[in-house]
Formats: sequence, C-alpha cells, structure tokens
Amino acid sequence: MELKKIQALFPSEDGNKHDRDVFVGMISQLLEELDSKKNAEQSILGKSKDRSGDYYQQIVKTADIPQRGKSFEEVLSELSNLMEGHPYHTKNFLTNVLPMASIPGLIGQFTASLLNGNNLWDVYGPAGAEAETKVISIMSRLAGYEPEQSWGYTTWGGQGAVFTGLRIAITKQVEDALYEGVPNNLYCFSSEQAHYSLIKSAEATGLGRNKVIKVRTKQDHSLDENDLYLKMKTVIERGGIPVYVVGTTGTTDNFGIDNLKAIKETVEQVRIEHQLPPIHIHADSALGGFYCLFNSYDFESNPLDFEPAVLQGLKQITERMQYLHLADSLCFDFQKLGQTPYVTSLFLVKQKQDLDKIDLDAKESPYVGDRAYGSYHTSYTLECSRMASSISILTALNMFGVEGYQQLLANYVRVNLAFRTKLQKQLPSIAVTNPNNPGPLTAFRLYTGKPKWEEEQQGQSTLREIQEVNKLNESLFEALGKRKDEIFLGDTKKFDMVAAKDHPVEVPIYVSKLFCISPYTEVAHLDNVVAFIESTIQEVIKESELYL
Ligand SMILES: *Cc1c(COP(=O)(O)O)cnc(C)c1O
Repeated sequence: MELKKIQALFPSEDGNKHDRDVFVGMISQLLEELDSKKNAEQSILGKSKDRSGDYYQQIVKTADIPQRGKSFEEVLSELSNLMEGHPYHTKNFLTNVLPMASIPGLIGQFTASLLNGNNLWDVYGPAGAEAETKVISIMSRLAGYEPEQSWGYTTWGGQGAVFTGLRIAITKQVEDALYEGVPNNLYCFSSEQAHYSLIKSAEATGLGRNKVIKVRTKQDHSLDENDLYLKMKTVIERGGIPVYVVGTTGTTDNFGIDNLKAIKETVEQVRIEHQLPPIHIHADSALGGFYCLFNSYDFESNPLDFEPAVLQGLKQITERMQYLHLADSLCFDFQKLGQTPYVTSLFLVKQKQDLDKIDLDAKESPYVGDRAYGSYHTSYTLECSRMASSISILTALNMFGVEGYQQLLANYVRVNLAFRTKLQKQLPSIAVTNPNNPGPLTAFRLYTGKPKWEEEQQGQSTLREIQEVNKLNESLFEALGKRKDEIFLGDTKKFDMVAAKDHPVEVPIYVSKLFCISPYTEVAHLDNVVAFIESTIQEVIKESELYL
C-alpha cells in the first residue's frame, strides 16, 4: 500500500467533506451491523456462541496479522463476528452492574478519542484537563465536599480509587514510606462485604494481604462499628497501626450502605485514645455514590412525583448517602450507574493537599515540561498517560442532568421493590435476602420448603442444612445460566457469611441476584421475569427430584 492509501486510514487533515462522509459511512455501517443483531426479547446480540472446550486455544493457533491490510468490509465482518452472542442490555439484562453506555457517554468518549489528547498534562490534553476540572467540581459539590478544597482525577476503576486512598493513608501515618518503603505493621479495615479491591491494594502497596482486617456486618449488611472499634484496638494492642478504613456505600452483592458518620466517630475515638496521626477513611462509593444525587431532593414536595414506596426507599438510601462528605476520599464509577462506557471512574479527595503527599517532585517528571509551561500536571496518578474519560462523564452529566439521573436511579429502586413483592407472592419457597436494602439489586435464595433465611442469619441452622440449600441454589444458577440468552440474571457464592450452630467457621451463602441496570427494564416486564424463574426452578426440581 502506498502512503496515500495509508493516510486515508486517518481522519482528514483539513476537514474536507469527502473524507468525513467516508468515515461517517463506516460508522453508519457498523451501527447497522449491530442493530441487525438486536432482539429486544433476549439478552444477547444475535445467536449465542459456544466458547467452551478448546475455543481459545484454537484462536491462539490461528490468529495472525495480514501481510496487506484488509478492507473495511472485511474487517466489519470480523467485528460483526465479535458482536455475535455478546450480552446486550435489553430489559432482560439483569445480571450485574454492567450498564449500557448511553449516547451522551459514547459521544463524549468518541470526542476524547477524536482529540486523543494525553490527560497527564494540560499542554498535551487541554480538553481533558478542562473537562476533568469541571467534573471534579460538579461531583464534589454533589457529594458535599467543598469544591475549592477538594480535588481528584479520573482513574482505572473503583479499584484504582481504593488503591490511591491507601497510598495517601500510608503517607499520613509514615511520612517517609514513599522513599523508604512500607513498615510491616500497617493495617486496613473494611467490612466482610467490601469489594476485594482492598486486598489487592494491600498487596500492591506492600502492606500484604494479611493486613486487611475484615469487620463484621449487621443485619442490613452494613459495617458493624462496635466490631470495628474492637478490631482496631486489638491491632494496636499487638503493635499494629491502623492506617486505612474503607466504608462501602452500596455493596456489590446486597447494597448494604455503611454508616460513614458512625465509622468516622469510631475511628476518631480510637485515634484520640491512642494519639495516632489521622487515619484515612475512604468511602467506596463506586457503585452506590450516585444516590447522593438525591441529597438535595425535596422529599416533602416530591417534584418528580415518585410513588410512596419508591420515595421511602430513596429516602432510606439518602439517609446514609448524606454522610459521604465525611470520608477523606471517595469514588464514582461512571461506568456503573453514571451511564458512560468503560472505564470512567472518578476519584475524589476532600483536601487537595492529600494528593500532594503522593506527588512526584517536578525534577522527577522532566518530560512533561518540568512545570515550565502548562499548569495542570497529574504526577500523583499511578498512571502516566491517561485517557480523557472526563469528557464522557461531563457529556453524560450535561445531557442527563440531575433529574435524568434521578429518574433512572429511582426506576432501579421501583423495579426492585416490585420484583421483591411479586417474587415472594408467586414463589413462597424463595426468600429475599437483602429485604432491608432498597436499591438497584435484589438477592434471593431458594429453599426446599418454607424459607429459612432468618434462622440461617441467626446461626440456627447446621452446616449440613446450609450447604444443602447452597447446593440447591447452585443448581438454580446453573439452570438459569443455561437460559441466560433469554433473561440474564446474576448470582454470588458469597452473599453473606453466617454462623452454623454446629461448626466453628462461618459459612458462605449462595444466592441469585436481579440487578436492574438497563434503562429499558420496567415494572411491567417483571411478571415475565418471575415466570422465567418459576419455570427454571421447576426444571431444577425435576432434575434433582426434590419437591417443594
Ligand atoms: C465495582 C466496584 C469496585 C471496583 O470497581 P472497578 O471500577 O471495577 O475497578 C469497587 N468497589 C465497589 C463497591 C464496587 O461496586
């Protein structure tokens, strides 16, 4: 191929119409291809593809780069092949927090890609720097931070936020840890229900995975502050230093919301009793933090006219979310409830000086201009080059607005409340295992007779009984999994840990999950979902010859 033809693989240099039309034509063909595979009654694109056996080994053997570049038509057929059988977020997509990327989110991401700036420095990525500054300010205000004092950046996921929170936490306790490495007596705390991000972060910062102390949870799956207090004291008595406490505001499996106010008071009490430097509190609000959009909602006049049950659910969530600002850092995973594509996570710190603690010295980052020009450097990020995902976030914030988000977030609550009622009415052998947590997800557990969730939760079941119910639920996930092309539900093998009355170690609980994440799922579709669960249970029972 001569150079001219290769140049045609790039957007035009001068903005001519012909080249633009060719580009738009390709995008249009791509969208047409995708649309041709859509079916609103299933949860995948096109037909399902079997990827079992040696599927991936075969790919390894045959993958190759062509000697001469292929035409767009040829490549489109390969892209089309990749789309085949891909999960797609129709109303039947109920598996987990894997949202559909909205048009505003896509347009923003596309803009960032078209500009392709490098968000590490405003001289290379001015659009990203500006959008990021706006997004930090907007989200700080919504979370209750003071935008003039807070700061943040877009990063690699909720996990990246948990990780950098820990980097900061370490330097608050041990100033020279940045240079000398981490002492071997630093500890982190989170609830049993917290995301495993903290375990990886403890490893990657050099603390070690065993330095993560798991705190018990209460009936509503939120962190038990008394247990936090006792465990922090024990660590200190044994010569350890607590550096980091993660409060999860919206757990991934049951939407438990930790009480940051109580956590803060507990941490302060321990800190004062032992005269320790500040202990960093991170709110892992990656998932649930978006409900802070209701912090300013007028629940009295109810301007969006939510039904009483939905209003009550939102109020209950907001009672916890109003304390987000008490955390020293927090996170919004826009690729979750923020309706933007992967990866668009925002990490925020309450005090911008916290980021200075982990910043590089100017002389250590010479090639980003050594501060000679440009005024936006992000050498505190773990990443060097960074995409400008803030442009996607900003576009979504602007096109949805507070009310757009409120409507979507309220619909997730609405669908889940209705689902819980219908499910338990129709299928009396099912228990909803997170009944106290209104939110976007419902966890449910099947029994062979009357549900025994309360007994299990109170430690009144035997190990064998719990394991039998787990096995039944595992058969249910398998059966639901086989039919996931129709309706795609989720499941987890560690919804909660419970005590068994005849066993010294806590036992995990298996449950299925409905996660409302598609904008298309409405209450009217739930009869179909419950009927689907019912017919799948019947299959499971037929196979295992159990009877309800
Ligand atoms: C999703 C999630 C994470 C991890 O976020 P990524 O964006 O996948 O890195 C961490 N904590 C909570 C509570 C989450 O829901």
